[in-house]
Amino acid sequence: MADPLHERDETLPALREVVRAAGPYLDALPERLVYDRAAEPLLDRLGGPLPEDGRGTRAAVEELLRVGTATATASAGPRFFHFVIGGATPAALAADWVVSLLDQNAFVRASSRFADTAERVALDWLRQLFGLPAGWGGALTASATFANVTGLALATHWWAERHGVDVASAGLAGLPRMPVLSGGHVHPSARKALQLLGHGKDTVEVFARDGTGRVDLDGLRRRLGAVGPAVVIGTAGEPNAGDFDPVADLADLAGEHCAWLHVDGAFGLFAALSPRTAHLTAGVERADSVAADAHKWLNVPYESGFVLVRDPSRLGPAFGMPGAPYLPGPDDPRGGYGLLGPESSRRARALPIWATLAAYGRGGYRELVERHCDLARHLAAAVDAAPDLERLAEVPLNVVCFRYRPPGLAEPELDALNRRLGEALLDDGRVYAGATVYDGRAALRPAISNWRTTEGDLDLLVAVVRELGDRLRTTA
Ligand SMILES: *Cc1c(COP(=O)(O)O)cnc(C)c1O
Repeated sequence: MADPLHERDETLPALREVVRAAGPYLDALPERLVYDRAAEPLLDRLGGPLPEDGRGTRAAVEELLRVGTATATASAGPRFFHFVIGGATPAALAADWVVSLLDQNAFVRASSRFADTAERVALDWLRQLFGLPAGWGGALTASATFANVTGLALATHWWAERHGVDVASAGLAGLPRMPVLSGGHVHPSARKALQLLGHGKDTVEVFARDGTGRVDLDGLRRRLGAVGPAVVIGTAGEPNAGDFDPVADLADLAGEHCAWLHVDGAFGLFAALSPRTAHLTAGVERADSVAADAHKWLNVPYESGFVLVRDPSRLGPAFGMPGAPYLPGPDDPRGGYGLLGPESSRRARALPIWATLAAYGRGGYRELVERHCDLARHLAAAVDAAPDLERLAEVPLNVVCFRYRPPGLAEPELDALNRRLGEALLDDGRVYAGATVYDGRAALRPAISNWRTTEGDLDLLVAVVRELGDRLRTTA
């Protein structure tokens, strides 16, 4: 049992086990608990000491399936409304299996011309999907966080050039602090990117005109006029209520004041797909870099993000690696995306993106985005109709921000009750929605981004929120 070489013939039986488990798992997704706490003891089966003699391919895979199918969070199912999480479309899921089957290293063309070609096509299809100009390029990344790292790294290089420094070679030492300006919607992931890049997460100067984070354009304009070359971060879709920075206004300011505009559109960029919501992303085509996720609203499996940039010739100087004699350079015919983004060796994450866009096309995704926006409106209407629920924000896209509000409770009691309600929802497991703080008030903020979600799932969400809220109120 010790050496996989002796287990060569076990590959197909093990894969068949996975296929056998897939049917019941996928069939149960729409109905099963999003999270089943009762299954947690099974997790102990993963532990124990590292085996000296392995138990063999089939036994190991069977055990993983037994524990995994019982204890997995059904975030690929239709009733997971916490964070912003997509599922996996049929084509994307199958293509993700192809990624593992072929096990390509999407580092450079010398390691896989197939992965490189698929990535080039996938990136250009994404560019077209969001209506960005020809000539833009980019890279696939593990997440929107890494897409933010990529875009803000390019911004750093651009800004250092204005100070006469090649930061790829010399680093930041000796330079002043890079001015980074944003509205109040700036996402922690963009701060994390700045932290990784050596600017510090607290370098962001936030210009907000109210507690919801809406940008104070006048304040931002005044500061831009005073600081010289700067970086502006716009947020296209914030997770609390699905609100947007006015990207076109930010693009105007960046144009007037010598600033790099980076837009974080992790899920909100998908508003561009429908004529009903495209106004929300207007101006994004004038940004310098745009970060987004495929594992959210595109509904491909983790890990999948992407960055699209106006001037792709900036990627090589920022991310090319110092030469080793066996490595191609960024402009080498054998080079590729491993030299144009933060990672080197990478899985062929283009394949699920390619497959899902090939399968459903622009029209399929427009329909998906519009259906989710309709579902958000259906949920908002149900909240508005319930005497013990209160909506806290407009619903521009796919997020509905509201709270449980029975009569006769003061604000501090409502905050405590809604925080406990958020916890209770996660423990209950029938539907998943997390608590947040919106404009100073504890609230729930379900986000709809899974292709399987239907009205019935949202009606259940409302029923469970009211049931648990009522129970918490009366036992308080
Ligand atoms: C989800 C999200 C991110 C981070 O995405 P990851 O894929 O988890 O790295 C960044 N920005 C916004 C606006 C998001 O909604």
